[in-house]
Amino acid sequence: MLDAKPNDLNAFWMPFTANRQFKANPRMFTAARDMHFTTSDGRQVLDGTAGLWCCNAGHCRPRITEAVQHQVAELDYAPAFQMGHPLAFELANRLVDLAPDGIDHVFYTNSGSESVETALKIALAYHRARGEGQRTRLIGRERGYHGVNFGGISVGGIVNNRKVFGSLLAGVDHLPHTHIPENRMSRGQPEHGAHLADELERIIALHGAETVAAVIVEPMAGSTGVLLPPKGYLQRLREITAKHGILLIFDEVITGFGRLGSAFAAQHYGVTPDMMTTAKGLTNGVIPMGAVFASGAIHDAFMQGPEHLIELFHGYTYSGNPIAAAAGIATLDTYREEGLFERCAELAPYWQEALHSLSDARHVIDIRNEGLIGAVELEPIAGQPTKRAFDAFLKAYDKGILIRTTGDIIAMSPPLIISREQIDQLVDTLRDVLNSLD
Ligand code: PMP
Repeated sequence: MLDAKPNDLNAFWMPFTANRQFKANPRMFTAARDMHFTTSDGRQVLDGTAGLWCCNAGHCRPRITEAVQHQVAELDYAPAFQMGHPLAFELANRLVDLAPDGIDHVFYTNSGSESVETALKIALAYHRARGEGQRTRLIGRERGYHGVNFGGISVGGIVNNRKVFGSLLAGVDHLPHTHIPENRMSRGQPEHGAHLADELERIIALHGAETVAAVIVEPMAGSTGVLLPPKGYLQRLREITAKHGILLIFDEVITGFGRLGSAFAAQHYGVTPDMMTTAKGLTNGVIPMGAVFASGAIHDAFMQGPEHLIELFHGYTYSGNPIAAAAGIATLDTYREEGLFERCAELAPYWQEALHSLSDARHVIDIRNEGLIGAVELEPIAGQPTKRAFDAFLKAYDKGILIRTTGDIIAMSPPLIISREQIDQLVDTLRDVLNSLD
């Protein structure tokens, strides 16, 4: 054992972090409220990313804090299997009320990654329950992010997340991504690329539709740099999957809970999938919780056998955890009472104009936006991919704004409580940062 002091940084092996670099020059948050984090050296940092795309109502909101405090003292835990507690049912009803028509059941998980694994397993078990057990093939998309578990990295399309972990799940194909040069500097949904959905017909023809279980895509890919669906693209995916009896899963871990101005991207884009995976904004990021939303048809396929038998051999110790459920209900109350989804839709045009005013800042080669999410793509430095955007992240943090980078792309997704003045501050600070970069 090392002779460690409480504030030694070595023991915590940090996720998705350059550990050695971070520990040489750590950035620590010690408090947060509304739109701001407080750093360990007492500075205020404007949260331009809602934490990790999750704190949609901002930070330390009293209603949510109090609900958690109350619940932890009242019923801290209840077994999740063959037992229940009322809040998990109440939250489920509230969630399906927000979902598109026909999506009327939720299965609880603890994270986005677990929601993805759960949805993929439900898809396979659904076909088996209907006597089509040969439908096992899964289709994802290049540049898709579906969390970090084995199913998710298999259907996902991020090269670095896949290549160091060996051979992954068998029987997985990928659609091409939709990030094409014709769409540069589009405002909102881009015009070109709906035809890329037709690649699905090609993959299906190659294997036979009767072998394909599900297609999973992020309706708008967040983590890989805010890649928007071209107009008509999601509709086309829906038509093709429906025609072949293939389930369509939308990974709404980022787009869910108001980010695009509707409860879910499904409503924003007018396309209803068979399942939606969610997490993050479900509890405002306060307590880990995820949920898979499933259609009545999927749910009912499992409810055919003898009543005393377990219908789905799947679940987590913390599925529907009482404290998470309390946080979820208080979060939905906050979204509703403050009209935050509507607020997002109202602010979206202002956000769009502010973001696109960066088009003449140095190094900018593309800007993308939708709802209250946006990305600024920078010209990479030859031989040093990702360096320029990461330098921007470090400088931005020093100047008091939190942004996120993926490759050479800067992504922003502020809490939906952001004001117009704070949007200006975010964008103006970013402009200064970009213009100061080599
Ligand atoms: N799916 C999508 C679309 C995501 O954006 C994320 C997280 N960024 C995940 C899944 C994984 O969620 P988690 O980190 O909670 O496991």
